[in-house]
Amino acid sequence: MRNPSPIPFLDLAAEIAPLRAEIDAAIGGVLDSGRLLLGEELEAFEEEFAAFNGGGHVAGVASGLAALILMLRAFDIGPGDEVLVPANTYIATWLAISHVGARPVPVDPSPATRNLDVSHLASSVTERTRAVLAVHLYGSPCDMDALEEFCRSQGLWLLVDAAQSCGAAWKGRRSSCLGDGAAFSFYPTKNLGALGDAGAVLFPDPVRAERVKLLRNYGMKDRYHHDYKGENARLEELHAAVLRVKLRHLERGNIRRRELARIYRDILGGTPDLTLQEVPKEATPVWHLFTVTLPRRDQVAEKLAEQGIGTAIHYPVPPHRSGAYREDPGGWPELPVTETMAQSILSLPLYPTLRERSVQRTAHALLQALGHPPSL
Ligand SMILES: *Cc1c(COP(=O)(O)O)cnc(C)c1O
Repeated sequence: MRNPSPIPFLDLAAEIAPLRAEIDAAIGGVLDSGRLLLGEELEAFEEEFAAFNGGGHVAGVASGLAALILMLRAFDIGPGDEVLVPANTYIATWLAISHVGARPVPVDPSPATRNLDVSHLASSVTERTRAVLAVHLYGSPCDMDALEEFCRSQGLWLLVDAAQSCGAAWKGRRSSCLGDGAAFSFYPTKNLGALGDAGAVLFPDPVRAERVKLLRNYGMKDRYHHDYKGENARLEELHAAVLRVKLRHLERGNIRRRELARIYRDILGGTPDLTLQEVPKEATPVWHLFTVTLPRRDQVAEKLAEQGIGTAIHYPVPPHRSGAYREDPGGWPELPVTETMAQSILSLPLYPTLRERSVQRTAHALLQALGHPPSL
């Protein structure tokens, strides 16, 4: 039998190829204009991205981490403050809190949704708590109704790390996923990816967006008059121009991701030992990642690799176990769900250019590796 072709975990070249003519034209337009920073492409992208999200005010910035940091600064969150954050997220969510001088307070997620469980939040609130920084992990929205009610009752800001959830919706509305402020990453592998690093912050309140526009550019209002201690965190014109092209194709890609996720879920649902991410009925996920949890994760990944099927782990080391956070003065709470998840989670290939038969082959290979040969 011929070896079947490999199924890479990601294939960015294949994703960019069909957009090549549009991207070349966008880049050419910037080169012809001679304007490389803080120009028309950025302004147009900010408007189009706000419209895509159902309103709000957008400030484009240099990365997802910059977006998170400047979002926190727009709410004056800093030294002495605490921010509740999921324990099972990418470390950038935590680093943003640390970089503004505040303290991340980790909360264990629900093992079913892999997202914040509001019933675990109350016991972590102190008089220093200022905000919840929720993450719609893997592109699946948290329960926004419960989070909003909780934050309102406690007098906290509801902030969102939307790095993985560009285009996701709650009760059919994208704007309902975004809280009092949302930070996006356009890292190349994200659902809306630039050709390098880029990010954005969206607020319902235009004053906060204006504040981020100053902070991203050295805190400068009028030339060489600096109102704040700002940063160099601008979104470049070349990236903005390319993001405008890619934004036009985002929803189509997200729909395709949902179709492919459906195939995985139909084949893998109900398999003993294997759990899928539970999606609340009010949520429209965008499947940035398709994850399963399973026993003997590393051996299973190895068996898939032998068949040319790429997988990845998001994330093998939770932030509180990383070297960066080894010296927390207060000590970390028990986080059993997060610890178990780091041992058992596995991401399967899922992207718009992936073929349906590759999804089927991956799912069947996974069942086989688990000792559950598919019934034919
Ligand atoms: C990718 C990501 C970030 C960081 O984005 P960068 O653009 O790489 O700085 C932050 N949070 C989450 C959840 C992410 O997935």
